[in-house]
Amino acid sequence: MAHTPAPVERTNLLGLSPAQLEGFCARLGAQPFRARQLMNWLYKRGCSDIEQMTDLAKDFRAKLADRAEVRLPQIITAQRSADGCCKWLLRADASQAYEMVYIPEADRGTLCISSQVGCALDCSFCATAQQGFNRNLTTAEIVGQVWLANRELGFHPAGDRIVTNVVLMGMGEPLANFRNVVPAMRIMLDDLGFDLSRRRVTLSTSGLVPQIYKLAEVINVALAVSLHAPDDALRNELVPINRRHPISELLEACWHYIDEQNGRSVTFEYVMLDGINDSPAQARAVARLLAGHPAKVNLIPFNPFPGTIYQRSPEAVIGRFRDELLRGGVMTTVRRTRGEDIDAACGQLVGSVKDRVIVRLGGKMRSAMQVHP
Ligand code: SAH
Repeated sequence: MAHTPAPVERTNLLGLSPAQLEGFCARLGAQPFRARQLMNWLYKRGCSDIEQMTDLAKDFRAKLADRAEVRLPQIITAQRSADGCCKWLLRADASQAYEMVYIPEADRGTLCISSQVGCALDCSFCATAQQGFNRNLTTAEIVGQVWLANRELGFHPAGDRIVTNVVLMGMGEPLANFRNVVPAMRIMLDDLGFDLSRRRVTLSTSGLVPQIYKLAEVINVALAVSLHAPDDALRNELVPINRRHPISELLEACWHYIDEQNGRSVTFEYVMLDGINDSPAQARAVARLLAGHPAKVNLIPFNPFPGTIYQRSPEAVIGRFRDELLRGGVMTTVRRTRGEDIDAACGQLVGSVKDRVIVRLGGKMRSAMQVHP
């Protein structure tokens, strides 16, 4: 019988660290500096076609094309909102999808990316939570979102940056996918990668305390934390991970992160839910928690989605809450809602998660949230 070799899966060059790329080049018999050239083609020039990487020796290019490829996330749909925001639905596999959103502003372009397909954290006011959790995105899929947004928005190596800021505020809990998120953020910061300033890459977490300590050891990026309530009783309801890691422990971890990383401050996100967490007394309680610490508050008007029991606080209530915080000595801003007409606003990203691994906080969440050093 004729022997047919098993098809070999090509290595995806996207998402490999410089050291991993060097190792890969070495296995193909190439010099380590080839890895730098590859990084340059991939991230600085936005090239995904090995054939076009013309300063690589022809025989090396042939070997590369044989063993490697640049595998990008596939776009299922693209939408543009009236205010210029763009939202893409990306394929995770036959039935699963995740989303990313681009938010253009006068002085910057922010890309909001996903870290997981769905989410296991079950925050009561978040549309993604209703979908349950399917799987972690790979490093290539996380980095691939930045790569793809640049291409779709017309990136040119000689032109201005299009994506100037990246926020991990799309679908998923980034610290529950520590193993893939940290290498992806390293590529965003690497001067051979997307070369973004560490102040312009923001990780937002619902408050996985052990992983915040771990993060402080390995990378320096801007940290945002979803606070949403001034006391444990209410936060247990809104952000159930609080039952495991209460507010006092969470804040300790935040101050530790800032000390370790010599950062400026933690941004505390606070979703404004009508009649739930938006009273002046609650604002004063938040101020008591945060005043005197390296903290800022960003108030997020609640974005409704089908089936939610919550409503957005009226504008005047949000204004008063902000004023109480300012009076209490806490720097506070209100997030402008963008992309609402295409369901691209905070907490509205749902992708499409058909096969849920888990829906509620439970045993399996531990495996979804493992930290791998
Ligand atoms: N899992 C991360 C990233 C979530 S999205 C985290 O929890 O921080 C970024 C922010 O949007 C979080 O603060 C999240 O709590 C908030 N958010 C979620 N649903 C929302 C909604 N429906 N309206 C407004 N903000 C929402």
